[in-house]
Amino acid sequence: MSNPILPGATIGILGSGQLGRMLALAARRMGYRVVTFSSDNDSPTGQVSDREFVAPYDYLPAARTFAQAVDVVTYEFENIPAQTAATIAETTPVRPNSQVLHITQNRLREKMFCKGQGLPVTSFAPVAEEADLSVVMEQVGTPSILKTAAAGYDGKGQVRIGFPDELASAWDSIGRSEAILEAEVDFVMEASVVCARSITGEFAHYGLIENRHERHILDLSIAPTDVPVELEAEAVDIARCIVEGLEYVGVLCVEFFLTADGRILVNEIAPRPHNSGHLTIEACVTSQFEQQLRAVCGLPLGDATYVRPAAMANLLGDLWSDGEPNWAALAGHRSVKLHLYGKHEARPGRKMGHLTALANSGPEAAEQALAARHLLTEKYVSKRSRTM
Ligand code: AMP
Repeated sequence: MSNPILPGATIGILGSGQLGRMLALAARRMGYRVVTFSSDNDSPTGQVSDREFVAPYDYLPAARTFAQAVDVVTYEFENIPAQTAATIAETTPVRPNSQVLHITQNRLREKMFCKGQGLPVTSFAPVAEEADLSVVMEQVGTPSILKTAAAGYDGKGQVRIGFPDELASAWDSIGRSEAILEAEVDFVMEASVVCARSITGEFAHYGLIENRHERHILDLSIAPTDVPVELEAEAVDIARCIVEGLEYVGVLCVEFFLTADGRILVNEIAPRPHNSGHLTIEACVTSQFEQQLRAVCGLPLGDATYVRPAAMANLLGDLWSDGEPNWAALAGHRSVKLHLYGKHEARPGRKMGHLTALANSGPEAAEQALAARHLLTEKYVSKRSRTM
């Protein structure tokens, strides 16, 4: 086994969004130096790093220089070009490994991997060319969802198919690219398991986290859930099977559908810390970001126990549509924690930050997080206008 990478060493982060930012903050708190490889200047991760390398992700000379400047490399989003990860791996450890990227960059490969591990997934079939359309409709039927095999997230590159004759135009609308047709799941809850595996094969997890989406984007996460313990244990076993099957090192999230008849199906795998795990920063002894750092540095995993129930509400760019949100009103919520990601432009649907509320139960924390977020939309009232 390789020697652990200890505080004082330099962590390289491929990608520069909010996940990299929160990882960098955890790393710097523990005395590591951080270098981020970013496609933009002054990125959310770059703002809190020791150094920001700015170059296109597929520019291999910059990737080589970056690799020389750091002791280990991890990534914060899975659409890093495979060639870039492979180039870096020639000189510097890349964790998780590039095989993981190869599988999770493509929905079809990911579903095939899960099926191959004997894990429960909704029925699906691949679409590569026009002739496949009638075959996949025969296999999967309706209602179903057509998804691009590559580069889809937060519902992008997805079309719902209500009737068989909608499939051809749906495939046109996603550019006739390689796709997967999935049977629509009639779920009662979406939930995730964020877990970690260390270099020595140690496993840690944060249990099931309930996830509520709006417009296909995560809106609210709550932990713990009221899901029966046997079902939670099944979800955790699935997550463990996935990280072991991938010989994974790092933090990984498995997203699930829970159905009314008590089944649990894997929807998606994210090979990195996940939006639903942000609440672990305040709620757990060890956050998902410190856990990622520990795993990629070859350290033992931290204690993933919850200290308090928690809920996380995302702050999307839409909140800025009438100007700056009302931060002053939020400050009165003493157990709600604000995270802003340092993004310069607020666009509808863009993740700008999040709130985490801690309380005595998951539902109570959810209520507080939502109430606090609602305050942000209230207009500022100056002292003068209030007394008039
Ligand atoms: P994804 O990008 O695959 O995670 O999809 C984003 C969201 O779309 C999910 O969180 C679900 O709310 C919904 N969705 C995706 N696939 C399905 C499916 N097969 N059945 C029902 N809803 C789905």
